[in-house]
Amino acid sequence: MTVNIHPVPVRHPEKAHKPDTPVLRKPDWIRVKAPTSEEAAETRRLMRDLKLHTVCEEAACPNLGECWKQKHATFMILGAICTRACSFCNVATGKPLAVDADEPQHVAEAVGQLGLHHVVITSVDRDDLPDGGAAQFVRTIEEIRKASPGTTIEILTPDFIRKPGAIEAVVAARPDVFNHNLETVPRLYPTIRPGARYFGSLQLLAKVKELDPSMFTKSGLMVGLGEEKIEIMQVMDDLRAADVDFLTIGQYLQPTRKHAEVKSFVTPDEFETYKTLAGAKGFLMVSASPLTRSSHHAGADFARLKANRAAKLAARAGA
Ligand code: SF4
Repeated sequence: MTVNIHPVPVRHPEKAHKPDTPVLRKPDWIRVKAPTSEEAAETRRLMRDLKLHTVCEEAACPNLGECWKQKHATFMILGAICTRACSFCNVATGKPLAVDADEPQHVAEAVGQLGLHHVVITSVDRDDLPDGGAAQFVRTIEEIRKASPGTTIEILTPDFIRKPGAIEAVVAARPDVFNHNLETVPRLYPTIRPGARYFGSLQLLAKVKELDPSMFTKSGLMVGLGEEKIEIMQVMDDLRAADVDFLTIGQYLQPTRKHAEVKSFVTPDEFETYKTLAGAKGFLMVSASPLTRSSHHAGADFARLKANRAAKLAARAGA
């Protein structure tokens, strides 16, 4: 029998001693609607009934009102306590609970009840598990395929650093899209993503393509953390070198005053420039706007991603 010593999840203990930083006023283009719809309330009830977590709630996503009105939720598996303490992220840090063996079926049940045509599954980091949680991703994909064979599956995984065989196992389960976010430029990793390694994350994305060249790969960046435009352009080049298909770029928002501060609000025009630059570098798709998030409009984006690949292949064949 597994005995759980109840952990005390904390939110960013490493930052607790730091003085609060001044908060930049949000510009008009960041305003979002509160989740007041009946559909949002139903989605929340379903998650509680099935003991599931969503990154929408845990990350305090600004799009929750819009997404949940359409019953689009992004599932966060492997519990709600993360073994890392990234300074941008609102998810609690601590000693995670044991893996819930029923979670894959519960996710599949929720996907069916919500009627999702495309689902995004992410997780907390589980550095405590020998496989980093890869087996739970695999089981969740399998259960969704069994219950909803028509639903396409997108996964947004941790970096699986020092977890041999984890990437291979997850790729073998054949998700439709394999996403892993770089989050920021390499210079800012020590303060923003201290437990991760920039080149480790890039290698993960390259490895997925090497294992299955037909699998769509995707990655995301937050801007407004103090990065320079030229650094973002270098990251775009690195992602293209790893043959990543889809890039998302969104504005970083500070979840609480204990988290990394917003250094700037990137204007909608600057996002358009990023979109143009990334398009010119050869990504099949780019989504760049203040409220872009990895999973925002993921179903519609997946349809466009497939169409863009088909058009590219047709153009090549005709050339
Ligand atoms: S953008 Fe993604 S994380 Fe945010 S509310 Fe929508 S589905 Fe959830």
